[in-house]
Order: sequence, then structure tokens, then C-alpha cells
Amino acid sequence: MKNSSLLKLFLELIKIDSVSGEEQEIRNFIISLLKKKKLTYKIDTVGNLFIEKKGSGKPIMLCGHLDTVEPGRGVKPVVEDKIIKSDGKTILGADNKAFVSVLVDILVNEQIDRYLEIILSVKEETGGGLDFFPFSWLRSKQGIIFDNANPIGGIVLRSPEITNFSLEFLGKASHVATPEKGINSLLPAVEFLGKIKKHLTNTNKKISVNIGLVHSGTAINTIPEKTVIKGEIRSYDQRKFNFSKTLIKEIFFQAKKVFKGEALLTFDGYCPGYHHQKNDPFIKKIASVIKKNQLTPYYLKRSGISDGNILNSHQIKTVVLSDGVINPHTRKEKIKIADLFLIKKLVLDFATQI
Ligand SMILES: [Zn+2]
Repeated sequence: MKNSSLLKLFLELIKIDSVSGEEQEIRNFIISLLKKKKLTYKIDTVGNLFIEKKGSGKPIMLCGHLDTVEPGRGVKPVVEDKIIKSDGKTILGADNKAFVSVLVDILVNEQIDRYLEIILSVKEETGGGLDFFPFSWLRSKQGIIFDNANPIGGIVLRSPEITNFSLEFLGKASHVATPEKGINSLLPAVEFLGKIKKHLTNTNKKISVNIGLVHSGTAINTIPEKTVIKGEIRSYDQRKFNFSKTLIKEIFFQAKKVFKGEALLTFDGYCPGYHHQKNDPFIKKIASVIKKNQLTPYYLKRSGISDGNILNSHQIKTVVLSDGVINPHTRKEKIKIADLFLIKKLVLDFATQI
């Protein structure tokens, strides 16, 4: 295993801007490396890069994301005390370039005989990337992702199901002196909020709803023409998720009953959840490889969402592992060089031992 090439590649990728939706330059850079080694690749309609590396054994899928959050332009990596960080003005982008550089380094610089299917996705942070991947390209039934910011050894077992929702009440504006000429869009919204209020606490066991944004009106002397309420449903339990969705619909219909304007309820940004069992054979194999590397596997019962949610919903049993990245999505993001090398060691072991 050659680590010097990995460190160099990681620093190169970090310096290429790739905020969500602008992954072209980093993708082209990676393609230029693949071409030198005569590796074949495909790009789908939204820009996800797919590399099939033929070899023995059952194919295994590895998926990293090319995009970063903001502030992610002009990143200047600083290497200090065996740690890589940014200069404090931007994020570092180790989320997910630590794993991406490992994958590309293995493809380009290592000789391993294992059938690998590698996806380098776009727009993981915003949505709209892997959702559009042509899953017929994939033969793997199992996959691994390193994209969880915890000490290496962590295995994510669960991720929530999420949907956003938006209520829009459209009435008619009027001067406050002539309210009878207007249709007040705030009234059904207040009705809705009044009814959902008691469900907005964590102590409620049956539903899991948050209202994050309320916007109404344009001026204090005008009957508000438009009122918008936005929120999300987030749950690890599908029954609770469905119950919450039904409840939102019911309360919405009650709230708009006497409203003379237009009322619209939309759900979008859906992300499926998943739940792996600790004693699942695939999870057990992953844990045993982690143990062989003198690490203690540990299980994360809660996590944010990632490409893993989409892959799992397509029946590719995908396990998200911790990558050692510290403070991702902040200007204080950093990673130990040793952890970068450790991810590579683990991926090589997974490729040969799973
Ligand atoms: Zn990430």
C-alpha cells in the first residue's frame, strides 16, 4: 500500500472547487487519471460518475460524493501536526474527498483483484444527484460508504425517513381600512398552527413533525394575501412517519374548510430511511475487518441522511461507516492524515476479505 500517492491526491482534490452542482472540474480531473490507466467509466445524465473495475468475486459497490457544502471555494489545505485542515476561511472538504481520494487512489495506484463498482456522486449535500442514477448499471447487492463524521470504527445502523412539506394559503390583499374586500390568508394558517401546536414537542410518541418557517403578508397595514408554512417530518419509524403525514393532511383540510382563497399542500424532498440489523451477515463481516485492524467497531443508532438512504431504497444493502472527519460543514473541518490512510487500509481489506 502506497500512502504518499494518496496524500498527494487528497490535497489535489481538496484544492478543486466542487460545491454542489459544480462538480464538473473535479470529475474531469478524476477522469483524466482514469484514462491514463485505461479504466472505463460512464457518466449519467446528472453527472454521477460510474467506474466498473472488473475482477473476481461478487461485485461490491463503493460510493463517495464529489460535492461539498459552502464556503467551499478556493480551499487552501494546511498540514499541521499530522492533521489536515483548511486555512479557516472555508470548509476543508474532507467530507467526502477523504473517501473519494481513497477510491480513486485504489483504482489508479493499487493492484487488487476484486470486482468493484464505484460511484462518485454529485449533489449529495443538496439532493438531486444519486436519485437520478441509472440503477440498472449496478450489479452489486451490497455496498459501503465512508461518510459519517465520527471516529473510525463506527457503523451506522439507522437513518431516518424524511419529507418536507409546504402549505400555501393564497387570499386577496386589501387595505386594513377595507378588510371586507380582502381574503385573509393568515386565518387558515393560524388555524393550522393552533391544531398542530400540541404535536410539536419531542415528548409526543406518535408523530415527528417540525414547523421551521412561517411567512405571511407584505406590510402591517395590509390584509396578508399569502401565507406559507414550511416544515418537515423526520422519523426512524415508518408507522410514525406515515401517521405524521396523515395528520398534516387532516389538519390542513380542517384549516382550509372555511377559507375562501386557494390552499395548497405539497410534500417534496422525500428521502427514504433504513434500518440494518447488528447481526446481519454483511454488518458482521464489516465489523470483523474493523476488529482485525485493531479498532473497536461501534454502532450508531442514529444518523443524518446520505447517499446510503437512496442506495438502500434500491435494494443495495449499503452500510455507512465513520470516516474520522472532524467538524464537517464548518470552517474548522479537519482530518488526521493517519485516518486518511486508515480508510484506505480498511477499503482494501473490505475488497479482499468481504
Ligand atoms: Zn458527506
